[in-house]
Amino acid sequence: MDRHGRQVLVALTGGTIASAFKGASALPEEAAVDRLKSAILEFFGEKGLNVVLKEPWGRPGYDSSDLDPGHWVELAGVIREAFEEGVRGALVLHGTDTMAYTAAWLSLCFAGTHLPVILTGSQFTRDFTPEDGSVNLRGAAQVVASGFPGVWIYFNWKLIPGARAHKARAVHPDAYVAENGFPVFFNPAWGRGGEEHLPQAALEKEWRASEELRIALRKGPNAAREAAGRIRWVFCAPGSTPQFSGTEKYVGLIGFGSGNAPQKVLEQIREVFSGPGKPHILACSQAEGDVKNPNAYHGVGIGTLAEGGFPVWNQMDYPLEFIHSLACFAEVVSPQNPDRILERYLKRLRREAAVK
Ligand code: ASP
Repeated sequence: MDRHGRQVLVALTGGTIASAFKGASALPEEAAVDRLKSAILEFFGEKGLNVVLKEPWGRPGYDSSDLDPGHWVELAGVIREAFEEGVRGALVLHGTDTMAYTAAWLSLCFAGTHLPVILTGSQFTRDFTPEDGSVNLRGAAQVVASGFPGVWIYFNWKLIPGARAHKARAVHPDAYVAENGFPVFFNPAWGRGGEEHLPQAALEKEWRASEELRIALRKGPNAAREAAGRIRWVFCAPGSTPQFSGTEKYVGLIGFGSGNAPQKVLEQIREVFSGPGKPHILACSQAEGDVKNPNAYHGVGIGTLAEGGFPVWNQMDYPLEFIHSLACFAEVVSPQNPDRILERYLKRLRREAAVK
């Protein structure tokens, strides 16, 4: 085991788990972060693990509704640095509101990692009774200590894959679902009271940042913020009329059913983007379940835009959070050819495949 083999990274970013309620409204608070820090040090201390503690945005951090893709890049940079120094896992404490987006982003940055990257938070502040922060914190820390590989959200005794996470409940402690997938039901007995070791192969394996992560970090937070600004999300409701600037590089259409949108909206897109430089269309649906087929319905199928020369991408069965993070990632890492990243996860609808 190398000299850092008994170290884990803990990144404190804010959110309810770092907040106090004080009978009014929840706000990240320094004293709450101090209590959190003691609980973390105590837990990992019991396991014989040392903690490298980072507060990327200071103390007490942010409500996650204020986080943007620039913050995602900074967080990925903190994890990368720790992993390169030989730390054996990362615990990220994060607000619940946008945790699924951050988890999706990290799952792209750390795709295939043999080390654990575990995000958690809480729905209730720890000065509220009953609270869910203690159980989430200890459970997530246990997962990190157990060396469970990959990017996951740990919440309410379950591990949700980072690419599948969706916040489905606003208040209840069972906040996340694994969209079109299954959670892993974490068993605390995985931990063996400080006796846990990563498999030898994992310990010997050197961690290396992917080329794509390196590019994203080289480009930096502002590039990610600008990339996100080139994505326009449109929620289709019956009769609503979205506006486009004509400069969008990606249009995420959150339509209906298998990927359908009002013909008026599709017509508007054809009109606004009638020239060259057509945006990528992310054909999504308010129907969360199942793999979509935006070519299934004549006229309203978002796939019909492919006939007009638009690159149209099928959401497949991923949550919207993942689609947004994926588009940001593709635009940051490969702006000249985002297809090469999008096509790893999504199906591009070909003109000839569109329903006539
Ligand atoms: N608004 C909070 C946040 O996302 C909610 C939470 O953490 O539960 O930071």
